Amino acid sequence: MRIVYADNNATTKVAPEVVEVMLPYFTEYYGNPSSMHTFGGQVAKKIDNARQQVSDILGADPAEVLFTSCGTESNNAAIWGILRANPQKRHIVTSRVEHPAVYNLCKYLAQSGYHVTELGVDSKGMLDLNELADAVREDTAIVSIMYANNETGVIFPIEEIGHIVKEKGSIFHTDAVQAVGKIPLNLEKSTIDLLTLSGHKLHAPKGVGALFIRKGITFSPFIVGGHQERNRRGGTENVPSIIGLGKACELAKKYMGEEQTGVKQLRDKLEDEILKNAPDARVNGHKTHRLPNTTNLSFEFVEGEAILLLLNEKGICASSGSACTSGSLEPSHVLRAMGVPFTAVHGSVRLSLSRYSTMEDVDFIIEHLPPIIRRLREISPYGRETRVKEQSTRIQAGA
Ligand code: PLP
Repeated sequence: MRIVYADNNATTKVAPEVVEVMLPYFTEYYGNPSSMHTFGGQVAKKIDNARQQVSDILGADPAEVLFTSCGTESNNAAIWGILRANPQKRHIVTSRVEHPAVYNLCKYLAQSGYHVTELGVDSKGMLDLNELADAVREDTAIVSIMYANNETGVIFPIEEIGHIVKEKGSIFHTDAVQAVGKIPLNLEKSTIDLLTLSGHKLHAPKGVGALFIRKGITFSPFIVGGHQERNRRGGTENVPSIIGLGKACELAKKYMGEEQTGVKQLRDKLEDEILKNAPDARVNGHKTHRLPNTTNLSFEFVEGEAILLLLNEKGICASSGSACTSGSLEPSHVLRAMGVPFTAVHGSVRLSLSRYSTMEDVDFIIEHLPPIIRRLREISPYGRETRVKEQSTRIQAGA
């Protein structure tokens, strides 16, 4: 069966060039980079090279890049690392639309006696920067606001946010897991103090990530152990994956133009055609301040899970809300924070493309998704009842 993969915000295919550079580090160059011998030492040099590649896509200094096991670890390391280094400050500012790797950590911290301010968003998923300025206090240890939202693709005005945080004298962390590789970044002239990225969102393997920590920021290690990563993260390095991440960053930099134009054109065509052909559909999130690869669509009066099942039957992989919450029928906390109507939250589907997506993939989705929506509307008692109720309300209101 043909697979049309449109779930790249959940994870991506590992680029063949990435696999190629990784393979020798399993069987040929398997030395421990911390060893004294040359066999291990040559591996350490390759890690340095990967660090350079990662810092290049960020516009950072290699010494500012720390390798981790994933985006979730980087987010935990950033927030815990700053809280532990500044024990007198017990306030955190974050947003209501963060990925669970920050959202649930902040909930945990709140239960553990820290003070957490969660900033709300408007119907387009954007923050109120005045609310942010009011929220940052003298005892705010860290402000953690994501770069781009994994569900809607909405991009926050990160530099403006950083300026506000800096003016107030706090430290700024951004979860850029969905941004790195999709939009250009330059941390050299940035207000960002710490930034999270994850390998498997940019065609590197799962189980590797990185954390940018600006020089001069006092950081306390999250994983305490050996002296790896200049004493900032204990644990023998995941060498093949780190080398893969370096290559993936090099490729992402090379294909950045493609992401900005080719992938965006595909996404726009997909979105426009679906909106045209499926009635009662809407786009969730800001139309322009958005990642080029993502569309989050709501189809009123149908269940997102039912849409996904029927798409799956056709070989189309999509997602409803965050991949990490799939398997639960909880409606998306992101769409709820945006005030998306209940009937639309439940019928939401995220389609996310990559540089491996093709026009044929997009045409295939356009061919199959609108009929699925029509079919579900016909058979769904929930859909019919809701529509009858809506119609009668309209009639009563004289609309
Ligand atoms: N942050 C965001 C915005 C994400 O989209 C994800 C994964 O979906 C993560 C963090 C977690 O990254 P990882 O899966 O590498 O732990």
